[in-house]
Amino acid sequence: MRKEIIDKLVILAESAKYDISCASSGTTRNNTSQGIGNANGWGICHSYTEDGRCVALLKIMLTNFCLYDCAYCINRRSNDIPRAAFSPKELANLTIEFYRRNYIEGLFLSSGIIKNPDHTMERMINVVKLLRTEHQYNGYIHMKTIPGASKELTYQAGLYADRLSINLEIPTEQNLKLLAPEKDHQSIYKPMHHIQQYTLESKEDRKKHRNAPRFAPAGQSTQIIIGATNETDKDILNLTSVLYQRPTMKRVYYSGFIPVNEYDKRLPVVKDVPKLRENRLYQADWLLRFYQFNVNEIVNDLHPELELDIDPKLSWALRHPEYFPVDVNRASYEQILRVPGIGIKSARMIVSARQHGALTLNALKRIGVVLKRAQYFIHCRDKSMLTIHEAKPENVRLALIAPTPIPRGQPEQLSIGF
Ligand code: SF4
Repeated sequence: MRKEIIDKLVILAESAKYDISCASSGTTRNNTSQGIGNANGWGICHSYTEDGRCVALLKIMLTNFCLYDCAYCINRRSNDIPRAAFSPKELANLTIEFYRRNYIEGLFLSSGIIKNPDHTMERMINVVKLLRTEHQYNGYIHMKTIPGASKELTYQAGLYADRLSINLEIPTEQNLKLLAPEKDHQSIYKPMHHIQQYTLESKEDRKKHRNAPRFAPAGQSTQIIIGATNETDKDILNLTSVLYQRPTMKRVYYSGFIPVNEYDKRLPVVKDVPKLRENRLYQADWLLRFYQFNVNEIVNDLHPELELDIDPKLSWALRHPEYFPVDVNRASYEQILRVPGIGIKSARMIVSARQHGALTLNALKRIGVVLKRAQYFIHCRDKSMLTIHEAKPENVRLALIAPTPIPRGQPEQLSIGF
């Protein structure tokens, strides 16, 4: 590979790494004389498919030159950082080269805004078009749509990309205007709406004509930055809930604010990325998508912030002792799903297993129920432990909480099960 291309790759992969709408592995391990493999920080990241497969993506920007000056972004025009730009042909060739070498299974493409949104989109479309038409590349492509891009170009992008995303970044218009004066919510929601419209039209067309073009078959996603502005978890989750009402919105990603431009007085002074808050939001997101929770049950005027020391499902259960204990041998699937310590898989297995006889604690354990948590909230054949009423919610909370409670403002990383 030419040195000039490697130099661009290093700069543009580094610039792309702050966008977490596909998670990055960020490893740097060099090969040894007798070893095999060479993991470099060249923007290869890992993303997960809906069926749980892990795929390696080349996560790269077409260019990190940008006309805009968003306060939270490392690539903003006022930053003095190394800049580079690939030509569409260079980036298409690089993707194919990586693909042939088995480094990657797909491409995640974003870009700074050069000249104007449409000019940038055209160049990005050229990359994916070259890949699809000249190189006959059929691998996965996730492309970031540029705020303010035209309807026509959004359509063309969706003909070549599997997934299109456009980042909301800041949840409210007022705060977006404060931190990213060149952007507004309309320039983000409009392309989002176009993506939805074209996706649904394409699905209808394909019912009538098998060969009608497919539009962004993997749907769309977006990203919200957490902690750069003063929105509460309630504001963020209400917005999320509205976004998920869009039939084509597959994922909302929450990106803890990374203090890359500490000199900007509009930004909060933070020591660490709010990883724990980010993690709680992902857990709440799961409750919305898979556990049939309504957003008001998780956050509301009385509880506008997610608790950091316990997960949102346990938090809801402790606030609603009247809902428990749930009889695992009689309750509906939906009721069982609300028990802390019981996940979707366990709830399904409980409903199926109890047809063959009443479930005991041992049977629940074999199914995978986390009894340490679930014991206070369930009733089963040989249940002998205290219920939440007998033990009292405050004591259950103490028994289940992490040994050292973590106060807000001192976040710690937790594993995210999504
Ligand atoms: S438009 Fe995108 S790349 Fe440009 S400064 Fe804003 S966030 Fe960064």
